[in-house]
Amino acid sequence: KKLGIALVGLGGYSTHQLAPALQETKNCYLAGIVTGTPSKAETWKAKYNIPDKNIYNYQNFDQIAENKDIDIVYVVLPNAMHAEYTIRAAKAGKHVICEKPMATSVEDAQRMLEACRQNKVQLAIGYRLHYDPFHQRVMELGQKQVFGKVKSIRAHNGFTMGGPGSWRLDRERSGGGPLMDMGIYCVQGACYTLGKAPVAVTAKFGEVTRPELFSEVEQSISWRMEFEDGVIAECNSSYAEREDFLEGKAEKGWWRLGPSFGYEGKQGETSQGRMNYPNIFEQAWQMDGQAESFRNNNSSIVPGEMGLRDVRILMAIYESARSGGKRVPISYK
Ligand code: NAD
Repeated sequence: KKLGIALVGLGGYSTHQLAPALQETKNCYLAGIVTGTPSKAETWKAKYNIPDKNIYNYQNFDQIAENKDIDIVYVVLPNAMHAEYTIRAAKAGKHVICEKPMATSVEDAQRMLEACRQNKVQLAIGYRLHYDPFHQRVMELGQKQVFGKVKSIRAHNGFTMGGPGSWRLDRERSGGGPLMDMGIYCVQGACYTLGKAPVAVTAKFGEVTRPELFSEVEQSISWRMEFEDGVIAECNSSYAEREDFLEGKAEKGWWRLGPSFGYEGKQGETSQGRMNYPNIFEQAWQMDGQAESFRNNNSSIVPGEMGLRDVRILMAIYESARSGGKRVPISYK
């Protein structure tokens, strides 16, 4: 049986990526929605044929516990709201997919994991690139040392923020600027290239050239992650510049993805030539993979624990940047 997914938060990502992807999935389908906007409920109900009993708002959301059609709650809200809705979904006995970044503090991420444990539901993070063939090849090149030991990594990810008004510029809802939103892909990219997490980070905030937008969160940030065997990853993330690549250098070769982190148009090259992989509908593959792991009671390849690990790294990067570039060791205990 296909598992029923309820999307919580019908913003850009749910509307343009997840709902269309759920028209193509084999292991799961769009069974319900949770929205605070009645007009969206009407539009989605008509477009996707969603029965009234599977439509919730933020007040009556907890009643989803009694709804047998819904197996998975997918939290697609501003970052700071991930914790509350993941915990409420877990208490309702539903498996959870939570968008990245998992949370805006280590404590929230820990509470989310604990709630899922206590309620015996699984938690996966919306890390779609783990299902993408270009990124899977990078994991293989790095972790299996196809070109020998990895020596260094570089990753940049950013876009140009339009005008004001987005929750992404509001610290209370975003937890931070481009690092939380886009830089997390660089953190992920370095970790899955090596199959390891960094032992320490150093970081620096970039210049603010648009103070009217960036009064609460950073405009850009650059950081360096240090891994246990001395491998260094140099990263940058920005809301003022479009940038998008992931590179690795190893003893006997190199690779580069660029565009790398967006939804489509990925390209890749290695020291041996072009990478030839199809551009897939990543979100469909991701949700099918996650639904299958929930159904089989296997742990996901992108579990909540990985989300917590990454929140620890993001928080250490901010700590270093705030201190003016002090080296911050990271403990994962
Ligand atoms: P968005 O602004 O387009 O949508 C946010 C939704 O949350 C809207 O429907 C809004 O009505 C609702 N909402 C409820 N309470 C709100 C509040 N207090 N303030 C603002 N909005 C509120 O954002 P989005 O781009 O859809 O991002 C949502 C989440 O998905 C974020 O965590 C983001 O990081 C993640 N995301 C992930 C990817 C990916 O590729 N994995 C891509 C885009 C977004």
